Amino acid sequence: MTARILDGTRIRDQIFAELKKEIARLAAEGIRPGLAALLVGENPASQLYVKSKIAACEQLGLASWMHTPPASITTEQMLRLVRDLNNDNAVDGILIQLPLPKHVDTKRVLEAVEPAKDVDGFHPVSLGHLLSGRPGLVACTPAGCMEILRRNGIAIEGANAVVLGRSDIVGKPMALLFMHANATVTICHSKTRDLPDVVRRADIVVAAMGKPGYVQADWIRPGAAVIDVGTNKVTDAKEAEALLRNFPARLEKFREKGVVLVGDVHPDAVNTAGALTPVPGGVGPMTITMLMSNTVKAARLRRGKAKTDTVQSTASAR
Ligand code: NAP
Repeated sequence: MTARILDGTRIRDQIFAELKKEIARLAAEGIRPGLAALLVGENPASQLYVKSKIAACEQLGLASWMHTPPASITTEQMLRLVRDLNNDNAVDGILIQLPLPKHVDTKRVLEAVEPAKDVDGFHPVSLGHLLSGRPGLVACTPAGCMEILRRNGIAIEGANAVVLGRSDIVGKPMALLFMHANATVTICHSKTRDLPDVVRRADIVVAAMGKPGYVQADWIRPGAAVIDVGTNKVTDAKEAEALLRNFPARLEKFREKGVVLVGDVHPDAVNTAGALTPVPGGVGPMTITMLMSNTVKAARLRRGKAKTDTVQSTASAR
């Protein structure tokens, strides 16, 4: 069996088309949703992520602002910046690119964001809304995973959903979204016993551990849906060869570039799963997509425009 590939870029394009219509409707009412990004210091990976987020805003016609304080910024100065953005009515979403420098109190800064502008869904108030099934802003990556499943017609209600990882930004919100969608949920972590057996019972597996190719192909129940959140850069030749032995073209590329992006699920799972997100091109594009969706949603909720929620039907619909 070869798995159906769950293409994240195709779903991103669908959602972008829907968002463009909604942004045009808001524009007719005089509203232009806007996202402010705070990028501290000169971390090249963070710079790249923020640039792609700003580019997505521009593509959709959203307003965007980029603030780039130096790495020497203090917690107090960060808090003042966040407060200014909270008070700026043109700003609907505030994005604080992580990681922040070690001397900055990340928790305090994230918790200073006005919950109505918390487009990353990291604020305790946003998590509380998700827990209690109230409308609100849901963390982008797990919300994107739900969109992939829903838009590919994969049944969630009654399914055994196994979530590998329990981080605040992926595993926990993912498990809550599944629970609200009436799946039977198992959350696994580094202390879980007999992981392969737990995974074998899953109709849907979400892997978010940060361990390249850890979930073996024979752990996947034939026909199960696999959502691979992991994005691991592999540079070790032996490791790359073990992971890609059945994918000569990818292995060849690795030999040319010296690096390959691999998920948390072994690539051989394409031969056991019924459906699977590729890495790259699966969950990755959905994270920025849902950030855009959250910015539009925040504008609608904050500025009091009740509209049908076409994009995030997930927890917000409950
Ligand atoms: P994280 O905060 O490091 O959490 C990893 C989780 O995996 C922890 O809960 C940990 O358990 C669990 N874990 C580690 N080893 C395990 C094992 N052997 N068996 C079972 N569980 C194990 O990671 P994260 O931020 O959630 O991210 C996870 C992965 O997703 C990373 O590869 C990250 O790069 C990727 N990611 C991708 C996107 C995207 O847009 N595609 C977005 C976010 C994250 P404990 O709690 O017991 O330590």
